[in-house]
Amino acid sequence: MAISKKIEKSITGASWIRKMFEEGERLRKIYGSEKVYDFTLGNPDLEPPAAFKEALKELALRPVPGMHRYMSNAGYTDTRLAVAKVLAAQTGLPFDENHVVMTCGAGAALNVVLKSILDPGDEVIILSPFFVEYKFYIDNHGGIAKEVPTTKEFKLDINAISGAITSRTKAIIINSPNNPTGVVYDEESLKELGRMIAGMESKFGNQVFVLSDEPYAKIIYDSLTLPSIFNCVKNSIVVTSHSKDLALPGERIGYAAISPLIENAGLLMDAMVFCNRTLGFVNAPALMQRLVAGLQHESVDIERYREKRDILYNNLTSLGFKMVKPQGAFYLFPESPLPDDVEFVMAAQKHNILLVPGSGFGAPGYFRIAYCIDKQVILNSLPAFKALAAELGMTR
Ligand code: PLP
Repeated sequence: MAISKKIEKSITGASWIRKMFEEGERLRKIYGSEKVYDFTLGNPDLEPPAAFKEALKELALRPVPGMHRYMSNAGYTDTRLAVAKVLAAQTGLPFDENHVVMTCGAGAALNVVLKSILDPGDEVIILSPFFVEYKFYIDNHGGIAKEVPTTKEFKLDINAISGAITSRTKAIIINSPNNPTGVVYDEESLKELGRMIAGMESKFGNQVFVLSDEPYAKIIYDSLTLPSIFNCVKNSIVVTSHSKDLALPGERIGYAAISPLIENAGLLMDAMVFCNRTLGFVNAPALMQRLVAGLQHESVDIERYREKRDILYNNLTSLGFKMVKPQGAFYLFPESPLPDDVEFVMAAQKHNILLVPGSGFGAPGYFRIAYCIDKQVILNSLPAFKALAAELGMTR
């Protein structure tokens, strides 16, 4: 078959998440969906907030002439201004519409930024465990992904990151709240990252961007607030979406925002707008841009996710599973009770529990639970986890 050898290789090494999802489909046909505990996908189970539905209805009832036409590749000025206003209030920095490009989700925002900054052979540091698509996105634009592990508690290891920076490093991707660990980076560690990078930029004489991937920014627990990367790292770019906070992953709406402190911000914006166009996205969906402009302070009910986190965290730790307590997103990333995480995931599958091995995130020895699913399914899964723990000799 005449497809690219490289893509053929990527497809055959298909993502664990997909593999487990397909296994779930098979099991659901046999046992029925209420008896299959599918923790594989980060697809929010909540509906978008009422304010979204109201705005959608209003727009349908009172359409604006020309609202389905092409627009500036950066997106509507009003929407970019609405985003900029929030960022300015959060950071005290002079954000305006010229710092924001509306995109088809965070995935597109990452591709737009990477295409804008990478020359072939440039390096991008990613921190393991990581969101699996980063490697493909970096490769899309001729970059080389360099994996750097986080600490045992999945925090930033500043020395390790510093050791990986070379004259070819163009960017470091961070993700907080994190998929798959749920960890939130604190302000001090982000400031330390900023100081370290500034030192490296002087040493090598080039810019090293921090791309802060933040689709879970509003899904944060225990009264924590997410420190803004813009106040910690000079050359910072936020890529994000409303896939999770407004539960709109199918609508493909997000943005990339660049720090006003970046010296050649205008040139970077020009590049990003050009890449949004030439990657074929053209512009972010028009309807969604109109809607999210007025929803920047809205989100789904975070308490619903916190409750699910607590049910799973409390029950699994009492069965003997070891994990860092997540402070955000909707994932748990426990240690695999068996040395081989794939073997463990297969053992769980026999109890109709579907998980993703840590190997899929560059972190063998762990597994991921996505708990953005129906609470009743989580409650129904608890006896199955208990039976699994007993089978593995874990029950205390
Ligand atoms: N980044 C992380 C860490 C994610 O978990 C996801 C989706 O799950 C994305 C980016 C992409 O999200 P989207 O393109 O839907 O905004």
